[in-house]
Amino acid sequence: MTNHIFDYMHQYAYEKVLLFQNEDVGLRAVLAIHSTILGPAAGGTRMWTYASDLDAIEDAMRLARGMTYKYAAAGVNLGGGKVVIIGDPKTQKSEMLFRALGRFINNLRGEYLTGEDVGTTLQDMEYIRMETPYVITLSQESGGAGPIGGATAFGVLQAMKACAEETWGSANLQGRKIVVQGLGAVGYPMVEMLVKENAEVTIADIDANKVAQVQKDFGVNAMDARDVFSVDADIYCPCALGGIVNDETLDQFRVKIICGSANNQLRAERYGDELTRRGILYAPDYIANAGGTVFDTDRLWGGVNTTRGMNKVAKIYERMKQVIEISKAQNIPTYRAADRMAEERIAQARAIKQIGGYHQGVGVTL
Ligand code: NAD
Repeated sequence: MTNHIFDYMHQYAYEKVLLFQNEDVGLRAVLAIHSTILGPAAGGTRMWTYASDLDAIEDAMRLARGMTYKYAAAGVNLGGGKVVIIGDPKTQKSEMLFRALGRFINNLRGEYLTGEDVGTTLQDMEYIRMETPYVITLSQESGGAGPIGGATAFGVLQAMKACAEETWGSANLQGRKIVVQGLGAVGYPMVEMLVKENAEVTIADIDANKVAQVQKDFGVNAMDARDVFSVDADIYCPCALGGIVNDETLDQFRVKIICGSANNQLRAERYGDELTRRGILYAPDYIANAGGTVFDTDRLWGGVNTTRGMNKVAKIYERMKQVIEISKAQNIPTYRAADRMAEERIAQARAIKQIGGYHQGVGVTL
């Protein structure tokens, strides 16, 4: 983005960008609402040190648009929004900072719903919740769905099975060599689920304690975290950082499928085209990793219900198959097919929005 913010808003059809500040508690925050066509804008609150205010605005806007696509492709009736707080999450957090943010969010009367993200915790969400009901991610004690890493991993597993079916004619992962990179909130349950599927799992993490723990718990092999890109395996499952498909890694891949939870796996879109050219099936990140979000937001339509929530997550299998179908029918890479699927749903919903009326938060109970 250049400093022409309105041009950028016009280019990607943003609805609004708001700046909040409260000097007494040191709050400086940006809220970007990309779209409320499908429903209230939802997306987490990120806290990060940004090099400039413009960088913070750009990050909020980029992430908000990503949420619009993620919900649309997952069939969740929410729009996309994101808050970024400018500040160091290690030293600049306080109860009152989050409560101040909560008051600003409350003033929007349900147009934006927030949750946890990089740099914020469930405890921070509790503070926001003191001032507003418009918080999705909460502990079970506070009426939320609790930790969502397991649901995210379950969704990745569904996408992986759809990719396996396309690649080898069977969704069965038994005996498939799968490398899981990152053993955190998603990677740990991911390994557990893959071991249950009788896959041949190899793990990698930069944290030696996590590697040792997962080896002890599941008896899997470990490898050097630097070698995950060039490993001779069937599937690479990135559950750590984004940007893992880039100029340095592209020619190293020997796997047939890339399917994991990491956000923004393609350093730039063109790498998605390159993967297709090399015959590697890429599960678009926001399709594969939507499970946690789908599970977390399910309570907005009838309260926490684990069975119903996980049933919705299981549909990621069908969604991934749809993406593959669109990709084949239109001869486009899978990441573009996912975008088309999301854009189609938004376009359909825009048509009924013309009817007008007050739609925000319709059917949503917090
Ligand atoms: P986490 O912080 O709990 O775990 C990340 C793990 O990756 C850590 O164990 C860390 O040591 C490891 N790691 C970092 N750099 C590494 C490297 N270079 N090589 C190997 N391991 C490395 O994070 P998480 O919640 O499990 O999320 C993992 C990814 O999935 C992130 O990109 C996140 O944005 C994305 N994601 C998570 C969820 C969720 O439900 N938690 C949902 C959607 C997307």
